Amino acid sequence: MASKRDYYEVLGVSKNATDDELKKAYRKLAKKYHPDANPDNKKEAEAKFKEVNEAYENLSDPQKRKMYDTFGHDGPQGGFGGAGGPFGGQGGYYSYSSGFDGFGDFGDLGDIFSSIFGGGRSSRRRNGPARGADLNVNLEITFEEAFLGVEKEITISRNETCDTCHGTGAKPGTSVTKCSMCNGTGQVRQVQNTILGQMQTTRTCNNCHGTGEVIKEPCETCRGKGKVRKQPKIKVKIPAGIGDKQTVVLRGEGEHGEKGGMKGDLYITLRIKRHRVYSRDGNTVLCNVPVTITQATLGAELKIPMVDGSTENFRIPEGTQTGTKFTIRGKGFKSVHSSSQGDFVFTVVVQTPKKLTSEQRKLLTELAKTMNEQPPIKKKGIFF
Ligand SMILES: [Zn+2]
Ligand SMILES: [Zn+2]
Repeated sequence: MASKRDYYEVLGVSKNATDDELKKAYRKLAKKYHPDANPDNKKEAEAKFKEVNEAYENLSDPQKRKMYDTFGHDGPQGGFGGAGGPFGGQGGYYSYSSGFDGFGDFGDLGDIFSSIFGGGRSSRRRNGPARGADLNVNLEITFEEAFLGVEKEITISRNETCDTCHGTGAKPGTSVTKCSMCNGTGQVRQVQNTILGQMQTTRTCNNCHGTGEVIKEPCETCRGKGKVRKQPKIKVKIPAGIGDKQTVVLRGEGEHGEKGGMKGDLYITLRIKRHRVYSRDGNTVLCNVPVTITQATLGAELKIPMVDGSTENFRIPEGTQTGTKFTIRGKGFKSVHSSSQGDFVFTVVVQTPKKLTSEQRKLLTELAKTMNEQPPIKKKGIFF
């Protein structure tokens, strides 16, 4: 976390400020920086307001204050006022205006808290629409399929909105009712008498588990969850030229959202099987082509099998050495992002015969007589 200002500094009080001094300083600053009071520089005020709230939140709680004095911002577990607290570090800001009845008289401190926490972020997150989760799957395809492109059908498993209750979780004909315990907010206020006086805190409502709603007769299809697990078949178009570990994204094919929230996405990561004959380097197809010693010596017209099943005729010249590479232009992988196409590069591998017919042996022996001298061994710069 970037350098955070000291909480005492934020509130402008000394390290041994009393609770009363803290409270006073907080009230003054909260009033000063409340975004509603700063329409001209709302953003800056909002940041300050948040900072002041976080400082007070931590220093007003005796235990948190003690921890802060001992460990500083990092806390023993690294993260004061972090994701766990009501002022979570996720950037999702609690709603300071909801339930806040006008500026002007700031009222009792308890009201400030209820206006901050009561209609706050956590309950809103539970009640409101939420985007469905993204899903990740792997899909294996062949070398040829990656070369030509292919349409595949895959079966995935995801949560979908229940068709019977349309996601409400209530049995058709019945309805979801507002929780009477918390009046639909999902949070219950509690007043505690502490040595510092009355403190108002909020906790998640037990009756509705924070949803703010009660289902009297749950939908039988989804048992009140509003969602069902389904295994839909999904068609995936894989473009020609796709590479190993590349990903195709299908927008909106992930988990369904909650309460009309957006659907998540489906990420399909491709794994391309190894091929017996071909390999790949970028958009270039590589392959070894075996030739006989006479083809290599005299030159030959070769038939080279392409990845798409077609054949290319290619003439290798007289005296072709083993390991020589030849290129057939424009017969490699298509580029996924442009209209260009790679090349096909093959390497000649001269096969020395292991078995000879008696006629071949005779002919080769005759040939050997004409060249029975070992060629010179050339080392760089030195000649023997
Ligand atoms: Zn249902
Ligand atoms: Zn409730």
